[in-house]
Amino acid sequence: MREKYILALDEGTTSARAVIFDRRLRIVGSAQKEFTQIYPRAGWVEHDPMEIYASQYAVMTEALMKNDVEPSQIAALGITNQRETTIVWNKKTGRPIYNAIVWQCRRTSDYCTKIKNTPLAEYIRHTTGLVPDAYFSATKIKWILDNVAGAREMAERGELLFGTVDTWLLWKLTDGRSHKTDETNAARTMIYNINTHDWDEKLLCEFGIPRSMLPEVLASGDDFGYFEYNGAKIPITGMAGDQQSSLFGHGCFERGSMKNTYGTGCFVLANTGDAPIYSKNGLVTTAAATLHGSHSYALEGSVFTAGAVVQWLRDELGVIKTAAESEACAEAVKSNEGVYIVPAFTGMGAPYWNMYARGTIIGLTRGTGKNHIVRAALEGIAYQSKDVLDTMMEEIGAVPYELEVDGGASANNFLMQFQSDITGLTVARPRLLETTAAGAAMLAGLYVGYFDSAEEIIRTREIERRFEPKMAKSDVSRLLEGWNKAVFRALDWEKQE
Ligand code: ADP
Repeated sequence: MREKYILALDEGTTSARAVIFDRRLRIVGSAQKEFTQIYPRAGWVEHDPMEIYASQYAVMTEALMKNDVEPSQIAALGITNQRETTIVWNKKTGRPIYNAIVWQCRRTSDYCTKIKNTPLAEYIRHTTGLVPDAYFSATKIKWILDNVAGAREMAERGELLFGTVDTWLLWKLTDGRSHKTDETNAARTMIYNINTHDWDEKLLCEFGIPRSMLPEVLASGDDFGYFEYNGAKIPITGMAGDQQSSLFGHGCFERGSMKNTYGTGCFVLANTGDAPIYSKNGLVTTAAATLHGSHSYALEGSVFTAGAVVQWLRDELGVIKTAAESEACAEAVKSNEGVYIVPAFTGMGAPYWNMYARGTIIGLTRGTGKNHIVRAALEGIAYQSKDVLDTMMEEIGAVPYELEVDGGASANNFLMQFQSDITGLTVARPRLLETTAAGAAMLAGLYVGYFDSAEEIIRTREIERRFEPKMAKSDVSRLLEGWNKAVFRALDWEKQE
């Protein structure tokens, strides 16, 4: 194949990125642009779909121009995106009828709370793998159809289209020729049946969503159409939601392989192979990215507050000037000296699911200093991740060969070593930390034959550093005992007696 590069578009929650990769999955160039966050009311979050597309288009052009890459040199294009965010637009005019309702938006929470106590909740769990929540697309689509004047009538006449951000970008890039999504994005809508691989009729009825609005669902590496750009016809052959794209980019193709992304929060995903596993501890079941012709599943769990606790140390407590400084502070003391921080600022997710938990600092003595606090905060990120990882390993019945990591806070060597120590797992930090974009690039490149094999790419990539467990078992047990006691005290703090 004479084309030299793969282009990945990574449309996140706060910014659009474009990354150009070569055949060895090295980054040739990239560009990034932030876009506007719109907060119309407390708890509501929106984006302007036109701005999303314009920013994505601008960074793509910038990345190509800056690096003297001609569109004709691009073998294929892959898209990865913030998931669940919902856009509804007019098929004829191409204009959105409302802003994009972002995954973080809580406007449909009350409606979802009502569903939670009905038999529909169990139906949703088994068909979609999800728990009823405002986070997912279904109730956001319903909200638009119920609240935008004339929307429901137009939808029933087949004049409206729905898409998550991948679908919207694809539709724009193909001049409206292609209205498609991939299974990983479809699996986050709460109207997609992950067992039959189709939109679910009963849920469509329940939420009043006409099937004619919905995109066709393909595999993540598939033929989505082509993008005509300065005379070149670039095949679009990869699409995946950001977390599943990252799982693929880490090479987690085998059952039991796992990755943890340490960002503002942590996202832990594990590949569970060709059968879905339904968690007893509140993890969600979802589709993993695959190439055309196969299906695969994943378990997903998140830690609400991870890197955010480091931001809090910096911005609210002012005990560090930069996030990176937290590493030296933690290493400046020999141990936590019995201090624990449970960073439950907004409650605790899996496996606790306690919305009433609140942040706790416990075990203070007269000798406690700022470095102990910083260390306890970093340790708190690792303990929370361990709780999710343990739950996953137990439910899958497999231990990963290594824990793959990425995200801003994975740069912290203390945190990574501590994670390895308390889990007993080898933590592998790849040199290429753009795993989300890399996943989309791999999917797109594998589909068109630009890459020969996914396993080969992963085998030849560089692991920048591996962290092996070093801590004595007795120390690990003592620390975990302290953590469990601290969590116990943080749970239910906000609950009214
Ligand atoms: P997101 O995609 O959620 O915005 P990023 O992957 O960009 O997150 O990571 C940013 C988060 O990582 C911030 O919360 C920041 O506090 C934390 N972070 C960045 N560098 C470090 C570091 N060296 N040590 C600890 N935390 C860090």
